[in-house]
Amino acid sequence: MELCRSLVGGKPVAGSRPPIDKHYPATGEVIARIEPADETVLDQAVAVAAEAQREWGARSGAERSVILQAAADGLRARNDELSRLEVMDVGKCYGEAVSADVPSGADAMAFFASMAMTETGDMHRFGDAIAYCERLPLGVCAGIGAWNYPVQIACWKAAPALAAGNAFILKPSELTPLTAHLVAEILSDAGLPEGLFQIIHGDHSIGRAICAHPGIAKISLTGGVDTGRLIMAQSAETLKKVTLELGGKSPLIIFADADFDTAVETALAANFYTAGEVCSNATRVYVEESIAADFEAALVERARAMRVGDPMADDVQMGALISEPHLNKVLDYVAVGTAEGATLATGGKRIHPQGFEAGYFMEPTILTKCRDDMRVVREEIFGPVMSVLTFSDEDDAIRRANATEFGLGAGVMTRDLTRAHRIAGALQSGNVWVNTYNLLPPGLPFGGVKQSGFGRENSTYTLDAYSEIKTTYIQL
Ligand code: NAD
Repeated sequence: MELCRSLVGGKPVAGSRPPIDKHYPATGEVIARIEPADETVLDQAVAVAAEAQREWGARSGAERSVILQAAADGLRARNDELSRLEVMDVGKCYGEAVSADVPSGADAMAFFASMAMTETGDMHRFGDAIAYCERLPLGVCAGIGAWNYPVQIACWKAAPALAAGNAFILKPSELTPLTAHLVAEILSDAGLPEGLFQIIHGDHSIGRAICAHPGIAKISLTGGVDTGRLIMAQSAETLKKVTLELGGKSPLIIFADADFDTAVETALAANFYTAGEVCSNATRVYVEESIAADFEAALVERARAMRVGDPMADDVQMGALISEPHLNKVLDYVAVGTAEGATLATGGKRIHPQGFEAGYFMEPTILTKCRDDMRVVREEIFGPVMSVLTFSDEDDAIRRANATEFGLGAGVMTRDLTRAHRIAGALQSGNVWVNTYNLLPPGLPFGGVKQSGFGRENSTYTLDAYSEIKTTYIQL
C-alpha cells in the first residue's frame, strides 16, 4: 500500500491526523493511504519554504527560467508515467491525461519560464527626479487543488509562483494525492532547490490551517464556490492575497447556421470530457428552435455510441467519476431533473463495465425539454449530464445565458462572424469560445466572473497575482 506523506524539505513527513484512504475510481479499490499533515508539519513546511525562498527570490529571472524550462521538458519526458498516475488519481481516460493534462502543465511551466526570462521593471522620469518600479516575490504561496485536474492545477499554480521568485506549497485534493509527488520529483530533477515545491496532504482541516498561517502570503484555490467563500473568510485574518478558480454552469449557444456536426461534437465534448468533471463545461446547451429536434436526435445517437469503461483502454471515451458519493450525487440530479419535468433523452444510470463492476461509472446523460428554472439548469452538477434548452432569437439566448450566478465559460456556434462578436461581447463570462470550446493555451488568461471567482490562471496577467510591485522615487 502506497503511503502519501507530506513532502517537507524533500522528505516524506507523516502527521498526527487520522489516515485517509485513496480509492481508484475505476475499481473502487483502496490503492494508497494519505497520512495527513497537522499544524506542526505545516509549520515545518512554511519555515523550510521561507528559508529556501530567500535564496530563490534573489536569483535572476534568467536562472529561474532555465529550471522551469527543464521542468517543462521533464513533464513531457515523463508524460506516460504521469498520465498513468493521473488515471489512478482521477479515473479519467488515459488518452485525455496524456494529450491534455500533462501537456498543459508542461506548457504552463514553459510559458512562465519565458516570462521569468523576459521580465523587466519600468522607469519614469519627472524633471529632476526618476522613479522605477520592480516586481518582487510575495514569499511563500500556497495552492489548494480540486480533484479533477491534479497535474494541471499543480503546474498552473506552481509555475507562476516559482517564476515570480516565491516558494510554493501545494495541498492536493485528498481524493487525488498521487501525482503531486511525481511533479515534485520532476521539479527537483530540473534543478529546483529543496523547499521551493512542497506538498501538504490532507482535507479541509489542514486547508483551514493553510489559510490561517501567518507565514503564507497568498492562496490560489481551485474548488467549489462554497469552499471559495470559506477560504476568503479564513484568509481574512492574515490579509492573504486570494485567487479563486471556482465552479460554473456555462452556456453554449447553438444557432441554426452553425456547422451542424461541429456543433454536435462540441456540445458532447463540452459535457462528457473527463466524465463531465470540468469546471468550464458547457452544461446548458441552448439550441435554436428550428434545428432543435434534429440536434437533440444527433446528440442522443452519438452519446449512446460512446464507450464507457476501463480508463486505460484506448477505445474508451469516458472513464469513471471520482467517487461513489459524487456518482450518487450526480445520479440524484438526474432524478431531480426528471421530477422537475425534463425528459431523460438518454443515459441516467450507473454502469458496471465488465472487469470494473465496482467502479464509479455512469452513462453519458442528456436531459431535454429543460427550463431555466430547473435545478439541473441552475446548479453545477459536475458530472456527465447535459441539459438541452431551446431559444427563439439572439436576445432571448443572451438574456438566458447570462441569467446565472456563475460566469466561467461560454460558447457560441454560428457561421455569422458579426453575430459571434456581438454575442461574445454581451456574454458575462471570463472566457468565451466561438465555434470551439474549452481551449486553454497558456498565453491566454483563464478564470471566472461573478460567483465563478476572481483572478486568472496562465498568461502575463497571472504573474501580478504572485508578486508585489515596489516603487522607488529618487530625487536627483
Ligand atoms: P472542493 O471545493 O470540495 O475542494 C477543493 C479543495 O479545497 C480541496 O483540496 C479541499 O480539501 C479544499 N478545502 C475544502 N474545504 C476547505 C476549507 N474550508 N479550507 C481550505 N481548504 C478547503 O472542490 P472539489 O470537489 O475538489 O472540486 C470540484 C469543484 O472545483 C467544482 O465546483 C469545480 O467547478 C471546481 N473547479 C474549478 C476550476 C476552475 O479553474 N475554475 C477547475 C476545476 C474545478
